[in-house]
Amino acid sequence: MTVLISGAGIAGLTLGLSLHQVGVPFRIIEAIAELRPLGFGINLQPHAVRELYDLGLKDKLDTIGVHTERTSYFNNRGQEVWSEPRGISAGYRFPQISIHRGALQMALHETLVERCGPKAILAGAKVSEWYESPRGLEVVLTDRQYGFEIDRLRGSVLVASDGARSRTRETLFPDAGKPNWRKSMMWRGVARAPRFLGGRTMTISGTKGMKFVAYPIGDRGKTQSFVHWIAELPVTPDRDYDTQDWSRRGEIDDVLPSFEDWKFDWLDIPALIGGTEAVWEWPMVDRDPLPSWTEGRVALLGDSAHPMYPIGSNGASQGILDARVMARSLRDHGETTLALQDYDAERREPVNAIILANRGQGPDAVLDAVADRAPDGFEDIDVVMPEAERRVFSERYKQATGLTVEEINAQPSIIGAADGERFQGKIGD
Ligand SMILES: Cc1cc2nc3c(=O)[nH]c(=O)nc-3n(C[C@H](O)[C@H](O)[C@H](O)COP(=O)(O)OP(=O)(O)OC[C@H]3O[C@@H](n4cnc5c(N)ncnc54)[C@H](O)[C@@H]3O)c2cc1C
Repeated sequence: MTVLISGAGIAGLTLGLSLHQVGVPFRIIEAIAELRPLGFGINLQPHAVRELYDLGLKDKLDTIGVHTERTSYFNNRGQEVWSEPRGISAGYRFPQISIHRGALQMALHETLVERCGPKAILAGAKVSEWYESPRGLEVVLTDRQYGFEIDRLRGSVLVASDGARSRTRETLFPDAGKPNWRKSMMWRGVARAPRFLGGRTMTISGTKGMKFVAYPIGDRGKTQSFVHWIAELPVTPDRDYDTQDWSRRGEIDDVLPSFEDWKFDWLDIPALIGGTEAVWEWPMVDRDPLPSWTEGRVALLGDSAHPMYPIGSNGASQGILDARVMARSLRDHGETTLALQDYDAERREPVNAIILANRGQGPDAVLDAVADRAPDGFEDIDVVMPEAERRVFSERYKQATGLTVEEINAQPSIIGAADGERFQGKIGD
């Protein structure tokens, strides 16, 4: 039989590669007819990087991404509130990588097609419904635009990595509640800018509701970076969140006026925004943690299981870890409901804890705490809040989300490194 995977995003493609590594037949069904490198920056935490390295992707990732060395927090005047090393610089055995989401997706896709052939992915077909029987399931594929039935596929289980607006999640858990909207919007873009803070620093400035995140996702020559930025701003009550479409365009003028004064000595934010060709918007939404990620022969994986506020740089990494645990489970328990339950038992609680930690602002909470005490800036941050007190915000988040250096370094990799012999898996019929 075959594991059917809906969605060729970061999590679905990682699952496909991982199932190939462990020799479990699979087929990915993707709604979009032709994958294009969409999206902007995402971050991969060291434990997720290790899993992708184990899949033989080290050279590709190191070429297209940036090894992030620091994360630094600033108030709305550009004064440093907190700064800490990341990845290898922080003592992890693997780097943190900031990378263009579309470039990562293309690299995963290209690798999958090289190893498994183009038939591994059926593109331009949407998983709409499924019928279970004691021996397996049948999924109904429809055209994304017009909704007519294209085909039906039989499989052993369905793993739905169909993203933050997952139809599968809605079907399995119709009473799970609506998205929680923080009444703010995030505008995103990529622009060239002179290198700042050594060219390997992720920056987060402002406070809850009016925040600017900027980090390099690639180099341009010796003096410039491609910088991914996100501007978070409150929106008027007549706007709503029901615009969750990653390709929804915004306007530069939606954001530029609010950040006009944010010309810091390390980064000119209005110039960065002004130099951006296209801006996209996405509402600040998450979903309540689910009581289960699996029902019968169907399981949720990646954003479909756990859409979270993009705070703490965790979303994509958790999807990658999900995929690796799911592949190991399917290898160990066969293509059975037990495998899905085993995956659920290992992953759900820790990831649900991250959703909740992000609601509390994650490590960014230090910015609000400092702004409460010094709304007009400061001469000496240590007078406003001593270092030990500032450190607690970051440490607390790492502990709640399993990201401490000791914990990550002590974890064995989930499946282990791929070697020539292991790349013997088959794709499903
Ligand atoms: C176009 C796009 C742009 C993004 N840009 C950013 C960004 O700039 N920054 C950021 O932090 N995150 C971005 N994300 C989200 C980010 O990729 C995820 O948070 C994270 O990587 C987890 O990935 P995922 O595989 O679970 O979901 P996704 O990467 O969202 O992938 C889901 C996939 O499922 C497909 N799909 C949906 N419904 C069906 C269906 N019924 N049948 C078959 N296929 C289906 C989608 O077309 C998509 O390819 C973007 C996602 C998308 C789809």
